[in-house]
Amino acid sequence: MQTDTQKSHALASLARHLRKGGLAPQVIILSGMLVALVMVSLCATVLYQGRLDALERARETSRNLALLAERDIERNFELYALSLQAVVEGMRDADVLALPLRLRRQVLFDRAASAQYLGSMLVLDASGNIVIDSGSEMPRAGNFSDRAYFTVHRDNPDVGLYISDPYLSRLRNGSPSIALSRRLSHQDGSFAGIVMVAVNLEYFHKLFAGLSLGPHGAVSLIKKNGIMLMRQPYDPRTIGRDIRKASTFRRFRSTSEGSFSDTASIDGVRRLYFFRNFPELPLIIMVAEAEDDIYAAWRRRALTIGSLMFVFGLGFVGLSFLLGAQFRRRMRAESELELLARTDGLTGLNNRRTLGEILDQEWRRARRTSSVFSLLFVDIDRFKAYNDTYGHQAGDDALAAVARCIGDCIRRPADSAARYGGEEFVVVLPDTPPAGAARIAEKIRTAISELAIEHAASEYGRVTASIGAASWAPGRDGGDVTTVIKAADEALYNAKATGRNKVSPFVPA
Ligand code: GH3
Ligand code: MG
Ligand code: MG
Repeated sequence: MQTDTQKSHALASLARHLRKGGLAPQVIILSGMLVALVMVSLCATVLYQGRLDALERARETSRNLALLAERDIERNFELYALSLQAVVEGMRDADVLALPLRLRRQVLFDRAASAQYLGSMLVLDASGNIVIDSGSEMPRAGNFSDRAYFTVHRDNPDVGLYISDPYLSRLRNGSPSIALSRRLSHQDGSFAGIVMVAVNLEYFHKLFAGLSLGPHGAVSLIKKNGIMLMRQPYDPRTIGRDIRKASTFRRFRSTSEGSFSDTASIDGVRRLYFFRNFPELPLIIMVAEAEDDIYAAWRRRALTIGSLMFVFGLGFVGLSFLLGAQFRRRMRAESELELLARTDGLTGLNNRRTLGEILDQEWRRARRTSSVFSLLFVDIDRFKAYNDTYGHQAGDDALAAVARCIGDCIRRPADSAARYGGEEFVVVLPDTPPAGAARIAEKIRTAISELAIEHAASEYGRVTASIGAASWAPGRDGGDVTTVIKAADEALYNAKATGRNKVSPFVPA
């Protein structure tokens, strides 16, 4: 079992240790802020990573959608190309050519000609007139010698499969279409006309409408020459537009596929663009998702987590401030307690216990440094009589005044004064030879006398004190602390015996 004194000793030494060890309130507050900072930056890192992930996911989605549309378009175009090829070959076959028109038509145009978004499949002669028509038994009247899909083959035998720019169909009420066409040649290689199939742009419109891209997403199909074939969200005015000069288009052409972020000049929306050049066809598909859509879910989450984290961090910092303040209060209370434990309540001087510590310490230091230290024993003269004359309260006041006076007389930081008990005081003067001690003792004696506290029962009419002084060199003279106290006490007795209100040095016998 620890006694209370032991406990308070332990507490005081812990407080001293904490103060020296630097676990100051500022450290608590700083660590709190540091922890909050680390938490906030961790959270920010995770959120930033989440943002990057959202972008990467969007890029993957766009790529998948582009590939999906590309496959569909490529598969259909391959079928159309095969149908055209079949007609080209059929038109070279003498047997086919010998068939009556109705049969020839059936042989040349296979089932592909009835596909959903396919317009007419036509064979045009060298002047651009319809000679065989998939849409009608008797070829409809029509001349298309002005169309690019006709002139390109007429003027150049080596074009192969040609995909035209969008045009408005004359046979189908002006519905926007593109044509796939091939050249027909005579035996000698001269121009015999073309075979073409019209693809209704409705096909791309439907295809793109089926892709889910968020409210602000966009899909475009562009010919490699820069002509826009279809754009989702659909706007008829964008069809056929030439975007060759747009910076985005130049990026589309710079590499086979890629992605980049840019703000569209049309609507000011910032989008992530993914583009792909078709490997087999002169087409480019572009899928763009608005960054607002990409980050929508992330933003909601970031806002929630971010504000929670902010509040949490703020709370944490606040808490460490509170803790720091609490700690500071605690430290102050402890040092006050410690001060109380070390000093005398009435006079504010060191108490007897502290005096013991100081003496031990100074004694050891003096021995170590082979120096002299002095001790003054101060005793107020006829104090019992003072109490009897003026009362105990006045006695206490006089005691406090004398104590203050003694404290004021010692100036060096190493010097210290303590209340030894009753009306007796001890002044410790480290590294002070007898002459110095005598000078300080005389100074104290005079100062007390000059307080001029009335003392009718004293032979001096005022409060005075007698002082015994002893100087000791522990290394040379030996002995221990009590020897010096006894010496000073002896000197004091001598002062009392020889008239009081005087300083007596200790004279060894
Ligand atoms: P001397 O000149 O020989 O020293 O005479 P003295 O009366 O001072 O000597 P003594 O030691 O016999 O008496 C000391 C007195 O000091 C006893 C007591 O009345 C008084 N005293 C001691 N402590 C206190 C205190 O804390 N307050 C008050 N008011 N008086 C105290
Ligand atoms: Mg006394
Ligand atoms: Mg006395």
